Amino acid sequence: MGVNSSISDVVTPTHAEPLPPGPAQAQLLRAVTDEISDKGFVLANLDKVVNWARTGSMWPMTFGLACCAVEMMHAGCARYDMDRFGIVFRPSPRQSDLMIVAGTLTNKMAPALRRVYDQMAEPRYVISMGSCANGGGYYHYSYSVVRGCDRVVPVDVYVPGCPPTAEALIYGLLQLQKKIRRTGSILR
Ligand code: SF4
Repeated sequence: MGVNSSISDVVTPTHAEPLPPGPAQAQLLRAVTDEISDKGFVLANLDKVVNWARTGSMWPMTFGLACCAVEMMHAGCARYDMDRFGIVFRPSPRQSDLMIVAGTLTNKMAPALRRVYDQMAEPRYVISMGSCANGGGYYHYSYSVVRGCDRVVPVDVYVPGCPPTAEALIYGLLQLQKKIRRTGSILR
């Protein structure tokens, strides 16, 4: 296997699994270092590099609407530490490319949710977290609750549960990374 193919395989593995932490990172660094010392430059496939950067720096706009948000905060704290995946919460939609809808979306809140989504940078992604966001949950027949946030914004990944655990949310985030690698291009 040539140096170029090994770099692009490590950046975006063909089996589309997330990079295993130790050996894969060491392999990538070794391949890049070898190529720079040999030729003085590195060749890589541009859309694979863009997807690698995109999946490694997803910045969620938090949308904590109800009890599910507590598990989302849990996922961001020290025990689960989403920062290690490059996932860092941002307080502004203009700095975010991912919205995690965590909780019950009411009719009154729906226009605000859509406005925040419209202000986010492209390409943008949405994770629907929990039964309420997925389909109304316990409040499905309530007069005041939207029966699924996908009626207001396009959802990429649904995480089931009431509430989903922090592990489930992280699994959903990894699934979104896979989806971006699989379907992503420079223009979404
Ligand atoms: S799915 Fe359950 S935990 Fe999540 S917001 Fe609805 S009621 Fe709360």
